[in-house]
Order: sequence, then structure tokens, then C-alpha cells
Amino acid sequence: MALSKLDSLYMAVVADHSKHPHHQGQIEGVDQIQLNNPTCGDVIQLSVKFDENDLVEDIAFVNSGCTISTASASMMTDAVMGKTKEEVEELAQVFSEMVQGQSDPRQEELGDAAFLSGVSKFPQRIKCATLSWNALKKATEKERKLWLKKESNRNQLISVNINLDFTMMFNLFSLPEKA
Ligand code: ZN
Repeated sequence: MALSKLDSLYMAVVADHSKHPHHQGQIEGVDQIQLNNPTCGDVIQLSVKFDENDLVEDIAFVNSGCTISTASASMMTDAVMGKTKEEVEELAQVFSEMVQGQSDPRQEELGDAAFLSGVSKFPQRIKCATLSWNALKKATEKERKLWLKKESNRNQLISVNINLDFTMMFNLFSLPEKA
């Protein structure tokens, strides 16, 4: 059976990403998320750095695994760079649904990762394709928890400051009587 033009293009894009993955490495000072896919033996260590505006400032991965898992990780890093945490989570959802055979107009936002829609025809490879996206979701969840912790610390500080202000005011108003 001859390959269609789209199949050849798909194979060329996937092969290119797996041979020359984008954003490989580690980011200094950022915790790595490690995940594995036991059914195939794929392993990934992902680091995601968010800036103060909640955008993906940098992303990098180290992995060992099959062509699909490597290509998918490389495509994922391209797709989410510069995106917000919410956008990242939405893209992860769109990708996960796409490789299970659902179509969605937002797939265009996946960039090269949209080429992996054909994985839906090979159910045993879905976990290879979603491994890096699952690691990404873990990274955003971790970031959200950190943010909530920071926010609650900040609120505690604010309430301490308000109490201090009341004490100061009280002292201030009490002064004339003492004098
Ligand atoms: Zn695999």
C-alpha cells in the first residue's frame, strides 16, 4: 500500500522531532517532574519554569524512549512555550482527546503536535504520546499549589499588618490621655 502525501509528511515531521528534539536539558533551580510509561519503557524528566505573569518562560526535558514519546515531548515543548498555566492545561486536554480520536478546532494551537492525531489508530501508543503532556500537567499542578501557598502566606502577612495598624492607632489615640 502506497503512503499518502499526508502520511509521508506526518512521518517526516515525527522523525525530525525524534532525531533532533527541541528544548532538551534541565533548567537550573527548577524541580524536575519524572514520569514513566511502563508499557513501552519510556521515561521523561521535565522542568517547567513559569515567570511572574504565570507564563511558561522556559521548558526542558531529558528522556529515553520510543520515537513517538520523544517526538511528542519535543512537539509539546514547542506548543506550550510562552503560554499561561490555564492555556497549557487546556492544550494538554485537547491533545489527550485528540489521540483518543476526538476532533476539536483548538487542535490547530498544538502546532506540530497535531500531527500525532494518527496515534488514535494505535491504542497501545497513546501512552507514549501523552507521557510528556501528563508530566506537564503535574508541573502546572505543582506550580498552582506553590502559588496558593504563597498567596495564603501573603494574606496572613496582610492580616498581621492590619492588626499592627489597629495597635498603632490605638496607641496613637491613647497618647493624649496618657500625657
Ligand atoms: Zn513508547
